Amino acid sequence: MRLSKTFVKTLRTAPKEETARGAAFLSRAGYIHKELAGVYDYLPLGLKVLERIKTIIREELNAIGCEEVLMSSLQNPELWQKTDRWDIEKMDIWFRTQLAAGGELGLAPTHEEPITEMMKTYISSYKDLPVYAYQIQTKFRNELRAKSGIMRGREFIMKDLYSFSRTLEEHEKFYHQVEAAYRKIFDRLGIGDSTYEAFASGGVFAKYSHEYQTFVEVGEDTVYYNEDKSVVLNEEVLQDDVLEMLGVKREELKSTRAAEVGNIFTLKDKYSGPLELKFTDEKGERQTVLMGCYGIGVSRVMGVIAEKCCDDKGLVWPDGVAPYKYYLIGIGETGMKQAEELYRGHEAEVLLDDRDLRPGEKFADAELMGIPYRVVISDKTLAEDKVEIVNRKTGENRLIPKAQLYTTQF
Ligand code: ATP
Ligand code: MG
Repeated sequence: MRLSKTFVKTLRTAPKEETARGAAFLSRAGYIHKELAGVYDYLPLGLKVLERIKTIIREELNAIGCEEVLMSSLQNPELWQKTDRWDIEKMDIWFRTQLAAGGELGLAPTHEEPITEMMKTYISSYKDLPVYAYQIQTKFRNELRAKSGIMRGREFIMKDLYSFSRTLEEHEKFYHQVEAAYRKIFDRLGIGDSTYEAFASGGVFAKYSHEYQTFVEVGEDTVYYNEDKSVVLNEEVLQDDVLEMLGVKREELKSTRAAEVGNIFTLKDKYSGPLELKFTDEKGERQTVLMGCYGIGVSRVMGVIAEKCCDDKGLVWPDGVAPYKYYLIGIGETGMKQAEELYRGHEAEVLLDDRDLRPGEKFADAELMGIPYRVVISDKTLAEDKVEIVNRKTGENRLIPKAQLYTTQF
C-alpha cells in the first residue's frame, strides 16, 4: 500500500467521546471511522487487521473440522417466538423492522434459532452427526450503552460456531477441542498472555460455561482470579459452592477489570428442543440433537488488542495481526528511489510512505499506526549499502544490508 494513494489521513485528534487510549489511536491512525455511538466504519488499514484476525480464527477452527457458512442477518420472528426470545422483555437488544409487504423482521443479534431450523433440512439420522458450523458475520444489538469504541458496538462482527452432537460425551469432547483452539487463537492474536478462560454461569441448561476474559483496564467486566491456582471466575459465579469446587477461598481472590473476547456454552436442548431438531439413533429411536455455541467478538478483539498493545505514541500491533509488517520511508532523492525498488514485489507486507512530507511527520505516523518494523533508507544508510530498521515494540535499532531486509529475522 502506498500512503500517497489512500484517501485516509491520520488525525491530530480523535472523536471526543473516544476516551480509551486504544480507541482514540484507532481513529487517529485511520483504522476506523465513527458514524454514531456504537456504529463504525473500517478503513483500508482497519479492514486489513480485521481480515488478519478472521484468518487466524478460520485456520484454527477449520483445523478442528468446522465448516464455514454465512447466514442472513434478517430474522424470522416465528422461530424466535418458539424459543420465547422474540419478546422485548426477554431480549431487550432487538433491532426490528417492518416489511413493506406487512409483518415484522428482526436484525440478527445472534443465530441459534435460524441455524437450528436450517439444520432440520440436513440432519435426520445419527449418520448426519456431528455437525460443526460457524460463520463470521455482522450482528445487531440495541445496546443501551455503546462505549470503548469498537469494544461494544450496536453493529459488530462476531464469529459464532454451533455444534450439533449425538451424545453428551461427543459434545464434551468437541467442547475441549474448542477450548484448545481458542488458546491457539488468542496466542496468535497476541493477547494470549492476558486472556484467561474464566468460569461463568451456564444458565438453566448447563451448570457452567466459560468466558474468555482479557485483563484490560477499560474492560466492562469484573473478574476474580488467583494466580497460584490458575483460577479465574466472573461475578455471576462468585459464590460458596463454586469457590469450593474450584478449591479457592474468597479472600484468596483478587479482582480486576476485563473484556469478554469470547465464550463457550453447552446448550443441550435449549434450542433444539423447542425447534424440534431431532435425529434417529442406531436403535431407530428419535432423539433431540445436543447443541453447543462458541462465540468470539471479532471486532471487539481488534479493540482489545489496540488497548493492550499501545504506548504514548500510538498503536503497537502484534506481528500476527498488523496490517503490514514494514513501514518503509525513503529519505532524499536516492533514498526514495531505492525505497521504490525495495517496495516492488513486496506490496503485501510493506506500507510505503511516499507522501510529500517531512521525515519527522512520517516517523510520527509510523509510530501512530503501529506497524511492527520501520525501515528507513537514506543517503547515510546507503553509503554502507544498508537500511535502518527499528522495532516498534522494543525500540531496538539496527543497520542491516539492504539486500537482506526481507530475509532477516528479528
Ligand atoms: P457482553 O456480556 O459483553 O454483552 P454477551 O454475553 O452478550 O457479551 P454473546 O452474546 O455471547 O456476548 O456474544 C459472543 C461474543 O461477542 C462476546 O463474547 C463478545 O466478545 C462479543 N460481543 C457481544 N456483544 C458485543 C457488542 N455489543 N459489541 C462487540 N462485541 C460484542
Ligand atoms: Mg451482551
